[in-house]
Amino acid sequence: MKNDYSMMIDGHAVAGENTPFSVINPATAEALAECPAASLEQLDLAVDAAEKAFITWQKTSHTDRQAMLHKIADKLEEHAAELANIITSEQGKPQALAQMEVGGAVAWTRYTADLEIPVEVIEDSPNKRIELHRKPLGVVGSILPWNWPLMIAVWHIMPALRSGNTIVVKPSSMTPFNTMRLVELINEVVPAGVANIVTGEGGLGRAMSGHKKIRKIVFTGSTPTGQNIMRNAADNLKRLTLELGGNDAAIVLPGTDVKSIAQGVFQTAFLNMGQTCAALKRLYVHESIYDELSQELIAIAQQQTVGDGATPGVTFGPVQNKDQYDLVNELIADAKASGGVVHPSAVVPEGAGYFIAPTIVTNVTDGMRVVDEEQFGPVLPLIKYSDIDDAVARANASENGLGGSVWGADINQAQEIASQLECGTAWINGHAEVLPHAPFGGCKMSGFGVEFGQEGLLEYTVPQLLNINR
Ligand code: NAD
Repeated sequence: MKNDYSMMIDGHAVAGENTPFSVINPATAEALAECPAASLEQLDLAVDAAEKAFITWQKTSHTDRQAMLHKIADKLEEHAAELANIITSEQGKPQALAQMEVGGAVAWTRYTADLEIPVEVIEDSPNKRIELHRKPLGVVGSILPWNWPLMIAVWHIMPALRSGNTIVVKPSSMTPFNTMRLVELINEVVPAGVANIVTGEGGLGRAMSGHKKIRKIVFTGSTPTGQNIMRNAADNLKRLTLELGGNDAAIVLPGTDVKSIAQGVFQTAFLNMGQTCAALKRLYVHESIYDELSQELIAIAQQQTVGDGATPGVTFGPVQNKDQYDLVNELIADAKASGGVVHPSAVVPEGAGYFIAPTIVTNVTDGMRVVDEEQFGPVLPLIKYSDIDDAVARANASENGLGGSVWGADINQAQEIASQLECGTAWINGHAEVLPHAPFGGCKMSGFGVEFGQEGLLEYTVPQLLNINR
């Protein structure tokens, strides 16, 4: 991996004015490379460049912007191996999953390119025509997390550009390099100033959310940070899309064929080592099948090969950073101390990497930290229930409302229960599946606004009504 990633401001590769910082490879806990750190003045330069570029970019035709997005997707495909390698080395996920992330980024770019922004005719009578148009907002600020760094960057950037906005991106300081490379590639296609990236901490995110010239913030990250952004965004009434934390519950109904769902439950709970906003995080299992499903999940956990994501054959990588590693270990220890049973899992490699094997915990219930808190890591609590209404009430007793699911053989019954869950997406016999054409977002403390599909695209626009008296 190269060691000279640059920020991009107004079409130029620039170094940071603040002291660079190390990005850690979570598989070794050693520094991977140094990342530039922007000053607040450099953030202003990036916003100014984006504001200037907006004057002409907003007037480019839909066809031109669609063509440019497809050209960007071509570039992502050309550089797929390089991007996947960067993702594994800074984020930790196994190569196959990193390749999937790049594939997703390409698919989302192409899908977003092809979306249309229609003009709605509200009235068309002899004396009057009323049309609802959608105009871009201006400069959009994107603030990113560290779990799916490339894919989420694409989720923010592509709809912003497609609808005629310009953008300033700030990736997580844990995983900046893949996004820097992405923005570099985008700059090979779009005019200078349309897509800018600044890296570092030092209040950059806070300054972005308070910035007078930024019209919208799209943020994916934790709920407390989302709340800070919302407070800070009030001065110029910034538009916000907040994709925040989740603590998704799943309910497994009595009579479910345990063998047929075990892999699906495991994969959606431990997707990306559990570091997925809409991963399955609390599993409510009917008492009649509790032991059987526990055994199946423990067996799948034991079959994983834990190690450096760059090593062929590894199916389970490290947790991305030391804080998250400590938190997950703390939650496991707390569950144990409160009477939970922590089951032996796959072998963890020796060394300084942040490895935690996929961990199934039984004999736990609501009120314990491992159930009530978002673990955002490789531990899954299994909670026994006997009454379905009670399970629904417990599932809904969380402040979060991102996703939820019901697993069972009777689809009608499952659907009826799923519709009672307080969450943005309720899956039946599945979980954590996001698709470019299906609007996705949370309710309650998991945020507001949606991404993806037509509805997601329109969040990057402001309506303007044309009322024409003929
Ligand atoms: P985080 O909130 O700690 O950081 C996210 C970003 O916010 C980083 O780039 C950080 O530099 C920036 N930031 C920090 N303080 C800020 C401030 N005061 N103002 C503006 N920006 C600030 O989140 P994280 O730890 O990187 O990500 C994990 C969290 O993200 C989890 O809670 C997870 O559920 C959530 N997440 C949600 C979704 C979703 O779609 N709902 C998707 C992925 C992750």
